[in-house]
Order: sequence, then structure tokens, then C-alpha cells
Amino acid sequence: MRKYLAPLFMLIIFEAVAITLWLTKDNIFFLFNFSYIGLSISLGIVLFIKKYKHARRIVQLLVGLYMLIYLGIICNENMQIEGFWYYLFTGVFEAATIHYAVAKIFGPLLFGRGWCGYACWTAMVLDFLPYKSPSQPRRNLGWIRYITFTFSLVFVASLFLAKVGNIERIMFWAFIVGNLAYYAVGIALAFAFKDNRAFCKYICPITVFLKPMSYFSVLRIKCDKDKCISCGKCKRVCPMNVDVTDNSRKRKNGTECILCMECVRNCPKDAL
Ligand code: SF4
Ligand code: SF4
Ligand code: SF4
Repeated sequence: MRKYLAPLFMLIIFEAVAITLWLTKDNIFFLFNFSYIGLSISLGIVLFIKKYKHARRIVQLLVGLYMLIYLGIICNENMQIEGFWYYLFTGVFEAATIHYAVAKIFGPLLFGRGWCGYACWTAMVLDFLPYKSPSQPRRNLGWIRYITFTFSLVFVASLFLAKVGNIERIMFWAFIVGNLAYYAVGIALAFAFKDNRAFCKYICPITVFLKPMSYFSVLRIKCDKDKCISCGKCKRVCPMNVDVTDNSRKRKNGTECILCMECVRNCPKDAL
């Protein structure tokens, strides 16, 4: 039964957030929203424990499609980074700001970049592409993320400074256009670099939040050195080029781990 503590732990965390927000914000949407996400993630962990091959992808589709189609398109909530800036500037602690606080700023202290492995609707599409494990060395292009991050901030700040009317409508279209641009650039980069996750590694502005916070993550993949035979398979299958055999927090590309469990599934000695 001990193996089911992880999904239970995850469910309890999400339920605690769901109930707290429901009661403090007096809005039952939060109960539904975080319960749905918590249940989806816990289901995925149970499927993983049962060694179901597509466990992670099921969670990714359940959560990613819900956020993209229901929250983004139907409810007009811009959950992209510009939506976060917009709600932050208006001082509204609602969907996008709460989403960022839980999934991308404070949550990663607990579950690292679980968002990137199990919920992101951009990666949900990119993970269908053929280059699941990078076949080329990682490039030194991570600086681009700071440009996209700054651009999103300047874009929203300019709308406020210029006192543009109906920014909420602009945010809806920014969500649509931004997502289309992310998919186009992400797919082009994946084929150019033969790496599904090239967009995540070099372009995505959200990693500016995710990387420093996930450095301190409680949930981490660790290597049992007594079992490891240094075969290198874990590094070959890792989509994010993490040196997972090094247990230190400073391990190479450590803040890139998306907890996809490919290394764990492929280790011939169950060392991870
Ligand atoms: S790095 Fe960005 S695009 Fe990639 S999975 Fe994470 S949030 Fe999504
Ligand atoms: S796959 Fe397993 S045994 Fe091989 S290097 Fe990685 S941790 Fe060690
Ligand atoms: S393969 Fe392992 S080290 Fe690499 S991202 Fe997935 S869980 Fe993290």
C-alpha cells in the first residue's frame, strides 16, 4: 500500500488548495478546478505505479485540454504569461495569478516542474512529435527565454501605460495568437533540432519562474548508487538532458527535470 502514498499525497495537496480557495474566495469554481486537476494527476500516478505506458500522456491531455479549451477559450481566462502580468497589474488574485502561484511559482518548491511534464498544453502537443529523446547535444540558447519573458512584461505594461481600452479583450486575443505562435515555433524548433522539447529548453518564458524554484523541489528523482551500473541509459532517454545519476541539487540540467519518469521506466537496475 505504501506505493499509493504518492498519489494520495498529491490529491491531499490539491484538495487542500481547492477547499482553501473555495472558502476564502467564496467561489465554488476553485473547488471544481483544483479537485479536477488533483484527481487527474493522482490518476496518472496510479497508472504509472501500475506500469501503464501512457500514464503521463493521459494526465497531460486531461489537464492540458481542460485548461486550453475550457479555461482559455470558453471562459476567456488568459493563462499565458501575459495573462499573469495582466491580473497582477490589476491587483486581481484570480484564475491566472492563482494558477501561476500554485503551478509555476510556489508549487515547484514541492513538485518541481511537474507542470511541464503533466499539464502544459504547449508540451501536450509537442510531445506528439517524433523526437522524444534529443539526438543532438544541447545548445547554448537558454538566454532567449529572458527575451520572451521581458517581451511579455513590456507588452502588458505598455497597454496599461498607454491606457488602452478593453485590455481584457486584448488578453483573450493575445491568448489565441500567443498559443498559435508557441505551437508554430515549438513544432519548427522540434524538427530543426530533432528535439520535441527544444521550445521548453530555449524559448519558454515561464522557465524564468520554474527553474529557480524547482532547484529546491522536495520531489526529485534520486539514484541508488549501489544499484547503478553506469550504463547511461537514463541520460539517453531523458528528454531534458538531466544528469540524473548525480544526486546533488547542482546536477547538470537539474532544474530541467519534468518528472516524466522515462529514466525510471528505462533503468535496467531499478536504481532510480
Ligand atoms: S517549459 Fe514552458 S512550454 Fe515547456 S512544458 Fe514547461 S511551461 Fe510548457
Ligand atoms: S539507467 Fe539505471 S543503471 Fe543505467 S546509469 Fe542510469 S541509473 Fe544507472
Ligand atoms: S527522464 Fe528522468 S531526469 Fe529526465 S526529465 Fe524525465 S524524470 Fe527528469
